[in-house]
Amino acid sequence: MMQRTLFRRGALLAQKAAVEVPLLPMSAPLQPRLDRAMSSVTIPPPECMLRPLEVPFRYLFGPGPSNVPPRVLAAGGRGIIGHMHPEMYEIMNDIKKGIQYAFQTQNNMTIAMSGSGHAAMECAVFNTVEPGESVLVAVNGIWGERVAEIAERMGANVHIMVKAPGGVFSNEEIEKALAKHKPVLFFLTHGESSAGLAHPVDGIGDLCRKHNTLFLVDAVASLGASPIFMDQQNIDILYTGSQKALNAPPGTAPISFNERACQKMFNRKTKPVSYLFDMAHLSNYWGNDGQPARLYHHTGPVLGFFSLRESLAIFAEKGLEESWRHHREVAGYLWKGLEDMGLKLFIQNKDLRLPSVTTIAIPEGYNWREMLQYIMKHHNMEMTGGLGPSTGMVKQIEWLDYQCREESTLLLSRLSH
Ligand code: PMP
Repeated sequence: MMQRTLFRRGALLAQKAAVEVPLLPMSAPLQPRLDRAMSSVTIPPPECMLRPLEVPFRYLFGPGPSNVPPRVLAAGGRGIIGHMHPEMYEIMNDIKKGIQYAFQTQNNMTIAMSGSGHAAMECAVFNTVEPGESVLVAVNGIWGERVAEIAERMGANVHIMVKAPGGVFSNEEIEKALAKHKPVLFFLTHGESSAGLAHPVDGIGDLCRKHNTLFLVDAVASLGASPIFMDQQNIDILYTGSQKALNAPPGTAPISFNERACQKMFNRKTKPVSYLFDMAHLSNYWGNDGQPARLYHHTGPVLGFFSLRESLAIFAEKGLEESWRHHREVAGYLWKGLEDMGLKLFIQNKDLRLPSVTTIAIPEGYNWREMLQYIMKHHNMEMTGGLGPSTGMVKQIEWLDYQCREESTLLLSRLSH
């Protein structure tokens, strides 16, 4: 009844408006154009937009995104809800718990960035460093280079320790550089995907504490494939990406800050250079700041968060130890198969190989770009070459959980024919 009255009132208002609002006379230059084309738009709809979307099937053995399991895809295809609805907050709370498990941390300041791994990288640096402060970066592949550039852009005083791609920094070398440069932040990549290296982390967090430095670790390519224990290893800030071993679509990036990192980032003199990545706002959006209400900051990727929650659920069901064991086992088949084919693996020491990213030294006389194009064209498989300093040195094969299966090694054995 009530509804019908409202409708009737709406219709009356519309009638009134139609009578009272005078029609604006059309401007002279517009009239002939409308007559000619019956349209005010000068740019026609693009032809491609009138064709249906086409997405080929690909085996994704490149450095992410990885093939997404149907369960995670289905979660991302659920109906949308508001990003500030109570049900969404529940889902975000679940995501936080899932990340705490995956990172092995009890940190309250644990969130997922609305953005890719780079968003987490920038968030970590922008929030914990102020212009002019000293930052130390271990560069043994592209990711150290990236962080050094990010820190430099925001005005930090950046110092780098450089090794050839895949090189390992000893704890003695790190301590010497910490003592020399007295950085507020030290960055190390756990899984250096551009070289296929799993860098040891033990003991570095303790050194950073001794020198009053925050320890920032990139686990984008390694989380879930190679063990990392945020709390036990005294890592102050840890981040990863959704599209690697978590097997969710790209676009969200888990990150966690411990108490030491919070002390530094919430007692700064200047505001972080980015509004979007300001943890003062993001901690409220994720319900981490103890305030009774979450306020609007930005619109989170609702469907991306659904997918991330599902991928973290799969991880929790399977168990971290099983995930590490599984990656290592299947990587072992791959390494043996490649060596049996006469190929040389780039990281010689098996204990330092990243189980999620295998790098093959490019055989002499081969053009790696042509090889990758051939594999994509004839086998529908995506693989990549090196990145940054390892470009031209390696070919990368990435195994990320869902496609980390024995069948995948059989699939790859096709390449030898
Ligand atoms: N760190 C590492 C180790 C990576 O492998 C990548 C992506 N390949 C990134 C950071 C950047 O992540 P994204 O592309 O999601 O921004």
